[in-house]
Amino acid sequence: PETITVQELGNRMAERATDVIKELMKLGVMATINQTIDADTAELVIQELGHTYKRVTDADVEQGILGVEVDDEGDLATRSPVVTIMGHVDHGKTSLLDAIRSADVVRGEAGGITQHIGAYQVNLKSGNKITFLDTPGHAAFTEMRLRGATVTDIVVLVVAADDGIMEQTIEAINHAKASGVPIIVAINKMDKPGANSDRVKQELLQHELVVEDMGGDVQTVEVSAKAQTGLDKLEEAIMLQAELLELKANSDRDAIGTVIESKLDKGRGSVATVLVQKGTLVVGDIFVTGSEWGRVRAMTNERGQQITEAGPALPVEVLGLNGTPNAGDDFIVVENDAKAREIAEYREQKKKDLAAAAEGRGSLEQMLAKL
Ligand code: GDP
Ligand code: MG
Repeated sequence: PETITVQELGNRMAERATDVIKELMKLGVMATINQTIDADTAELVIQELGHTYKRVTDADVEQGILGVEVDDEGDLATRSPVVTIMGHVDHGKTSLLDAIRSADVVRGEAGGITQHIGAYQVNLKSGNKITFLDTPGHAAFTEMRLRGATVTDIVVLVVAADDGIMEQTIEAINHAKASGVPIIVAINKMDKPGANSDRVKQELLQHELVVEDMGGDVQTVEVSAKAQTGLDKLEEAIMLQAELLELKANSDRDAIGTVIESKLDKGRGSVATVLVQKGTLVVGDIFVTGSEWGRVRAMTNERGQQITEAGPALPVEVLGLNGTPNAGDDFIVVENDAKAREIAEYREQKKKDLAAAAEGRGSLEQMLAKL
């Protein structure tokens, strides 16, 4: 629900907070200066004090500050899909990612040391690229979803053909469904003697995933991470799903992305892995992430190479942060320092208001408890 603090309401009307509190008392609402009141109550106060009102949501305010533009259809170009691999422990998620990565043509040529940066783009023989998020278990995916940051376009659900659907498989199915993200099932360990892909397909049916063989629209691919079979088919299935999703982005604008993970590095300071979603991130850009802001000092890819530009669906390590943002925080490029500071301060204030409101409620509850 929309709320506003008494203080902020007073400020917006250029009325003293005490007068707002008096009006609230007349309405039977006891509130202190830092407490929040709901939008309906605020509306009554505004009218009582003889002002007109227009409801402004936080999104409106932020967009006003950010000047977020909507992209023209003509500026959009196809972008690579962003894929998260999920599944039960030991069903082969890591092995499958490793197998796919070892087939990366560009990586093979560069032969560089691969660092773990939580996300990377794989270059396929076909010339296509797929971005994989290497989230440790489901935790990061769940947390990001809770924070409203669904960056994944497609979930590849790994199910071991000799084990079938297990507890974490079901969890993964539920997460993907709750996020509205399509699932492709990779039936792994097909090299094993006990492998039975039909049984897996039957079990999927019990969780309302109807595979193509059974007249549904869920693609399944039989693979073996160990024997490196079926990987091309899996890549094809991902690209087909991506085509159906019509993934597009405008690369010719200021970048907007999401923080995938961040850490404090001894030598380099705060480092964040950012997935660019729209626009192109360029070294020197000024950005806001969460309630922090900074300037991109340097960017590296997962091969540890310095890069100067990153377009849509490319994950990059960004240096130049003042603090360590959270996974799921947005990452937005703005025109200048002043704007970055304004947004960061606005967000910081909002956090404080919320904390103060929570504290206000807490003390009231404590008071009542003592009575
Ligand atoms: P994760 O927990 O889902 O990341 O699973 P891992 O990739 O760590 O694999 C768990 C175990 O299964 C390891 O011992 C792998 O060597 C083995 N494994 C993974 N994929 C295959 C496969 O395709 N065939 C066989 N036979 N073993 C596999
Ligand atoms: Mg693993």
